[in-house]
Amino acid sequence: MTGSNLDDCSSCKACELASTRQSVVISRGNPNANLMLIGEAPGAQEDAQGVPFVGRSGRALDQLLRDVDLDPEHDLYICNAIKCRPPNNRRPIKAELAACRSWLDLQLEAVDPKVIVLTGATAVEAILGIKGGMTQLRGQWQSWNERAVMPIFHPSYLLRNPSKAAGAPLDLTRRDLATVQQRLCEPCSASN
Ligand code: SF4
Repeated sequence: MTGSNLDDCSSCKACELASTRQSVVISRGNPNANLMLIGEAPGAQEDAQGVPFVGRSGRALDQLLRDVDLDPEHDLYICNAIKCRPPNNRRPIKAELAACRSWLDLQLEAVDPKVIVLTGATAVEAILGIKGGMTQLRGQWQSWNERAVMPIFHPSYLLRNPSKAAGAPLDLTRRDLATVQQRLCEPCSASN
């Protein structure tokens, strides 16, 4: 833990990624939202702009959110498990995820979301501790600290699999996000 205030995150040097990053990429969206979306790590665009999910993946994500009547800026808070870009967009290693976890925990505590969406296997492993293929994990409600958690495909995977056919990853992700949108409309007492 390098600090107890999220404001300190922008100067964090707790792991090796501090030496290669341009920006610490913390969040975008609404910190008072009931929904929090957690991805893997910033890419090149995110590193350059200091904002998560602003490249091609981010635009794809925003479109999917709008497709199910979720406003990307008002209906959710968006962040990543890792706040600094791994070189060449490689997957974060365990030590980096562990070093950055305290910042993610501060975000979870501050936002206190009712529902969490995890995009891709790294985010699923970071929060739920589950290793596995997203084909099996996506679309299945999970629970973490009494919050409903929905794993979905990462938008970068959807860009590599652009088929619009029914049952293709894009269609499945839209359905998963529609399920999330419906869940947000349910009373707080709804069970998993
Ligand atoms: S990735 Fe996380 S732990 Fe590593 S330097 Fe960036 S903010 Fe700190």
